[in-house]
Amino acid sequence: MAIQLKDLLDARVDELRKDTRGEPMPEPPSMSSGNPERCAVSLYSSAGDLVTAGDGDEAFTIQSISKAMTYAMALQEHGHEEVHRHVDVEPSGEAYHVIAVDDVSGKPDNPMVNTGALVVHSLVPGADADERFAVTLETMSRMAGRQLAMDEDVYREEMASTHRNLAIAHLLRAKDILQVDPHEVVDGYTRQCSVLVTVEDLATMAGTLAAGGVQPTTGERVFSQEVVRQVLSVMLTCGMYDDAGDWVSGVGIPAKSGVAGGILAVAPGRLGIGAWSPRLDDHGTSVRGRELVRGLAQKLELHLLDGRPATKLDWDARESVD
Ligand code: GLN
Repeated sequence: MAIQLKDLLDARVDELRKDTRGEPMPEPPSMSSGNPERCAVSLYSSAGDLVTAGDGDEAFTIQSISKAMTYAMALQEHGHEEVHRHVDVEPSGEAYHVIAVDDVSGKPDNPMVNTGALVVHSLVPGADADERFAVTLETMSRMAGRQLAMDEDVYREEMASTHRNLAIAHLLRAKDILQVDPHEVVDGYTRQCSVLVTVEDLATMAGTLAAGGVQPTTGERVFSQEVVRQVLSVMLTCGMYDDAGDWVSGVGIPAKSGVAGGILAVAPGRLGIGAWSPRLDDHGTSVRGRELVRGLAQKLELHLLDGRPATKLDWDARESVD
């Protein structure tokens, strides 16, 4: 029997609320404050339809999902060659906060791990942390189609305990990979991670990437198609860190996770997905968010390597799914 997509999402969220595997990130405390059972999902079609289930009104910090946006911004500003002089595009098989660069290339493995993301943040246009963050926030807002803001508490608390990211930034500076002040880069990067979003924002940002860089509601081109192709390629191969292989085979669409429990996933040409729930697995990925995206990818036949005929490629919120 055919079920409406909204009913399907509601049922899935209700079912997943019973899954209590994983723990929310303990630090910084204000990031994971609140009920760890919160769970939400949102889909945004290339036609501009938005369907949401669960705690869709609740905001959480974007965290590492922002790495995809700053990578796109750096590529748009400097071009591929210049950006990739500073950072490689190879899956690392390592956790996101590894304190090392590749032995052979001498560069961070990719822009999705913290080493690469810190270098990429330094390539965002702007003379200092304030300017770089202002441009980042403005670009994220254009993707989301509304003005976003930062969570001051999460930013302040993370800055007080971000020894590991400072260690990474100093390593990058010592090796001359980073050419600006390490403290300033960590400051700007921590602000970019502290931007508040809802699952609807994530779905809309993902929808902008799914539509080749054009924000589907405003019609504004935020990134070129070439930049989006590059970002999605790196999200597909590196976006889930040391879980990337399992994600590609089991889910099959580019995605990026954040330690506040958000996941942004993109079905190119079709739709954007935002999912959120704070309990994390060992890779720092939301347990329920992962299940939500995996279930939707299966139900809506999104796996990129399935080679679906073109007639199956358009999803519409008014349609029902079998
Ligand atoms: N702000 C966090 C950090 O850099 C983000 C990590 C993540 O979401 N994977 O450590």
